[in-house]
Amino acid sequence: MEWNKKKIVTIGSGDIDFICKSLGLAGASGTYPCYQCVVPKTEMQKKPKDRKKEYPERKLERLREKHKEFLNAGGNRNNQAEYENVVDDIVVPIEPKKWCPPGLHMTMGGVQRYHGHVRIDVSGLDLDIGNDLAHFHWTVGNSQFDKYISLKKDLIIIEERLLEIDDEIDDLLDDGCDETVPQAQASELFEQLHEEQIILEERKAILESKLAFPKKGTGPLADSLDKALNKFGIERQAYHGSCFVGNHCHKYLQEEVYTGVLDEMVATCKTLTGNPDIIERAEAIKEKYTETFKLYSAVYKMTSHSNYIPETEHTNIQDAIDKFMAHYRKTFPDSSIPLKLHLMEDHMVPWLKEFPFGFGLMGEQGSESVHAQVNRIKRRYAAMKSATKRLHTTIQEQHLKCAPELKGYIPDKKKYKSKKSKKGT
Ligand SMILES: [Zn+2]
Repeated sequence: MEWNKKKIVTIGSGDIDFICKSLGLAGASGTYPCYQCVVPKTEMQKKPKDRKKEYPERKLERLREKHKEFLNAGGNRNNQAEYENVVDDIVVPIEPKKWCPPGLHMTMGGVQRYHGHVRIDVSGLDLDIGNDLAHFHWTVGNSQFDKYISLKKDLIIIEERLLEIDDEIDDLLDDGCDETVPQAQASELFEQLHEEQIILEERKAILESKLAFPKKGTGPLADSLDKALNKFGIERQAYHGSCFVGNHCHKYLQEEVYTGVLDEMVATCKTLTGNPDIIERAEAIKEKYTETFKLYSAVYKMTSHSNYIPETEHTNIQDAIDKFMAHYRKTFPDSSIPLKLHLMEDHMVPWLKEFPFGFGLMGEQGSESVHAQVNRIKRRYAAMKSATKRLHTTIQEQHLKCAPELKGYIPDKKKYKSKKSKKGT
C-alpha cells in the first residue's frame, strides 16, 4: 500500500492464541503449531540444521487453499493435521510473516517454564530433606510437610524396632540352641516378640499407605523460592494461576534477582540439613539454573526494548539464541521445545532483518493495555459457538469503541414492513 509516495506496511501483533485465530489456525498444540512456517512439531525439537529439510513459510494464499480443502473434506477437526491445522477462515488478512513474534508472551512463558523446572528439581531435594529431618524429629513450620515428617518419624521408629525384634529373635534362637535360656521361657519370649512383630507390621502398612509426600513444589525449598521472589517484589498473581506478568519477568531476569532466589534456596537447604550429599545437589541446581537464566536473560536484554537494532547486532542476537537453545536441549533433554522457543530460534532474527526494532515496539505489549476492554466485550459474546466469529465480533466492537465515527459507515439494517403495517398503507 502507498500513501503520499510512502510505502505503508501493515503488521499484526497479539499473543499466540490471537495470531492463530486471526489466521484460522488451530493453535500452538497442533501438529503444525507455528503460524510463520509449516514445520511439524516433531521437527521443531531438532536444531534447524538437523531437520529433514527447510520447511516453507506460511502464506495467506496457502492458508485459504488448505481451509478450502479442509471444508471440502467435511471439516472434521480430528483430521485437521492433514490440512496443516488450518481450520477456520482468515479474520485478519495480514501475511503470517508480518505478524510480530509475541516477545512479551515468549518471555513470560520462558520465565514461567524455567522457574517451574527449578521447583520440580528442588522438590526432589525436599523429599530427601523430609526423610533426613524425620531422623532428628524436626519440623519446618509448613503444615503439609511437617505432617509428612511426623508420619515418616513414626515409620522410622517402627522400622528400627522391627530390626531390633529380628535381632532378639536371632539371639533367642542361638540361646535356645546353647540351652542358656530354659525352653519354656524361650518359647514364651518368642511368642511375645512374634506378636509384637505382627502388630508393628500392621501399623507400618497403615503408615505407609498414609505417607504420601506433599504435592511437588510444596516443601521448604520450594517455599524458599517464593519467599525470595517476594523479597524482590515479585508476587505471583493468584488470580492468574500463579503466573508471572511482564513486570515480574523483567525483574526476574536481572542477575541479582535470579542469583538471589537461587542463593536463598541453597541457604535454606543448609539451615535444614547438614547432609553433604543434599547440600551438594542444591549447589548443583543453583549452578544449572544460574546458567539457564543468564543465557535467557542475554537474549531478553538484547531484544525486549523499543529501540532500533542495527544490522551489526543481528548476528550477536542469533548467537545468544543459539547458545541458549544448545544449553536448553542439553540441560533439559526430556523437555519439549515449545512454540515460543521455536519462534525465538527460527523467526526472531529474520523478523529483525525486516523490522529492526526491539519487540517492545511492534510486539503485543501495546495491545496488552486494551486487554481489560477486549475481555469485557468477549464475555458478552461468550455464547457464540464459533471461536472465529466470536473473535470477529469482538474486534469489530472494540474497533468501534476506539473510533465511534466509523459507525456512520455501517449501512443501516434493511427494515422489513410487517404485514399489519402493509395493510394500513
Ligand atoms: Zn516456524
